[in-house]
Order: sequence, then C-alpha cells, then structure tokens
Amino acid sequence: MNDVFYKEDTIDLLGRIVNIPSPSGYTKTIIKFIGEYLSDLGIDYKKTNKGAIIATFIGEDNESHRLLTAHVDTLGAMVKEVKSNGRLKLAMVGGFNWNAVEGEYCTIHTASGKKIRGTILMHETSVHVYAKAGEIKRDEKHIEVRIDEKVKNSEDIRNIGINVGDFVSFDPRFEVTESGFIKSRHLDDKASTTLLLQLMKYIKVNNIKLPYTTHFYISNNEEIGYGGNSNIPEQVVEYIAVDMGAIGDGQATDEYTVSICAKDSSGPYHYDLTRHLVNLAEQHKIDYKLDIYPYYGSDASAAIRAGFDVKHALFGPGIESSHAYERTHIDSLKATAQLLYVYVTSAMVKED
Ligand SMILES: [Zn+2]
Repeated sequence: MNDVFYKEDTIDLLGRIVNIPSPSGYTKTIIKFIGEYLSDLGIDYKKTNKGAIIATFIGEDNESHRLLTAHVDTLGAMVKEVKSNGRLKLAMVGGFNWNAVEGEYCTIHTASGKKIRGTILMHETSVHVYAKAGEIKRDEKHIEVRIDEKVKNSEDIRNIGINVGDFVSFDPRFEVTESGFIKSRHLDDKASTTLLLQLMKYIKVNNIKLPYTTHFYISNNEEIGYGGNSNIPEQVVEYIAVDMGAIGDGQATDEYTVSICAKDSSGPYHYDLTRHLVNLAEQHKIDYKLDIYPYYGSDASAAIRAGFDVKHALFGPGIESSHAYERTHIDSLKATAQLLYVYVTSAMVKED
C-alpha cells in the first residue's frame, strides 16, 4: 500500500496548488488548473454553477454511491475601502485573526486582471513614530494594505485600477524542510485537495475498478460555510469531508498521523462510518488519531444541514496553527493518503 503515496509528486503538486491564489469567491483560476489536471489524465468531470468540480468513477456497484470532498478555497480578503492616505482597508473573507496576516505580502487582483503587490501592515507600524505600536489592537480599523505603487491618495489608487470589491490574496510562503515539514498558508484544505487529486490519478493510471461509484468533489466555498452542500447525487450514501485536523492544547491530533473527527461544533459525525474509518486504520496499521474539534464545521456537516440524507464523516491531515502560519509533516499526508485509498476500496458500512 506504500505505493499509493508518491512523496515527490505530492509535494510538487501541493506547491503548485498553494501558489495559485483562491480566496473563497475568487476560485476560477484554481478550478481551471484542477480541470486541466484531470483532463490531462483523461478523467471526466463536471463543473457546478457555484464553480466546484465533480469527477465520477463508476464502480462495481452503481446503485449506492460514495462522495469524497476537499475544498480548494482559502482565507483571503477584499478591498473594503480605498483610503485617502493611499492605503487600503480590508474586509475578511473567511475566519482568521488579523494578527495572523500582519506583515504578510499580498496581491490585489483588480477587475481588469492586473495583479498589484502590497504588504498587510498596522497603520501604526513604525516604532520610530508610534510609541505604543505594539499595544494597539490588531483589527480592521488599524490593519491596512501598503500598496507597492506610487500612490498618495484615493484618486491615485483608483487611477491604477484598484477598487472596492477587489480580492486580496496572501502569499503562501510554501517551504519544505529536510526534516519533512511542509510550511505554507492554505494547507487547509489544499493539502487534502492534493491528496484527492493524487488518489484520482492513482485509480486512473492503475485502472482500478472501485467497489462503488465514487464522486470526488472539489468544493470552492467551504471557508464561508456552503462548499459541499449542493450537487450531491441522490444515490450518495456515504459522504466524507477530507479536511484538516485541528491541533492545540488538549487535542489528540498531531502533524504525523491522519486525524479522524468524532465530533465538531456541528455535533457528532456518523458513528458507524467513523468506526469504519478507525477499523480500517487499525487493520492496515495506518497511524491515526481520533479527535474532537471544538470550533469547527466541515462541508460534510454543511451537507447534513442542507438536508441531505447521508452518512457523514471527516478525516484529514493534522494542520498546526490553522488559519495562520500553517504546517504539517509528510507523515501526516502519507497516513491520510493511505486511509483514503483503503476507504475507497472498502465495503460500505452495513446496518445491523
Ligand atoms: Zn478547511
């Protein structure tokens, strides 16, 4: 089973994916990239009206289906206000703390398609001017974008094509260390997206017939709560969200194993399906952690909320410092890739 995970290939693809900006609401370029990736492999897919991708592999059993989803949208921002001081006020897209982006390089995507560079800073950053700079609250009032253009006022800004409503993406700063860590923004959930793409490639290249018809859904609105809650074929019985495991005090999840979620803010995941995942991990000696995420919802819980009658579960790689300077280890990606493979080739959960 070791061959389901190609380390170099996975890291290379992940690096390409995190470097394509895709804040929720501005995912056309990344979806096009993924579409081309699938087409090159000869995998058919459909695009939803919301802009997501669904690729379907017909299985031995075409009556009961499975669906696995990962989301490719990320945190980001939008220009809220063009300020008279020649800087920009931001509105958040998705949930994060302002201090998690302070000092970050960013790109402003104008309506005409220009990409203008900038830096996200506190207005009162210079310690040579603002005595209490360190104590001021990091919020939308004080955080602004310093634009790397000669702009002194709002008119200058508009003249270079920047306007309210333009998307702003944060630099990912993707780095792989010799010790096997992958540091980058947006590992949530581009790490899982990469693993799903690699799994599809593996199935296609090796001509594997899955036991059940299986849909792979690359969603593009998870960070704002409604990524995978539509376009679910009615034959779908099992619905798996492949998304990050949350790490912190009291959490079992770590950066070296696959994290299976028993419960998050939305409530418990489907008991039997979750047990099935745990049993598969045990059987195949895949390093895993079973955990509860305190402040968390997934596309699987969004699907349940939207009224779909499916068994839902959630697992994925452990991501340190989520929605900020994220990090995981290659071991966690490997364990997740292995659990994905043994799951899609396993028998469905049976009712007692
Ligand atoms: Zn996520």
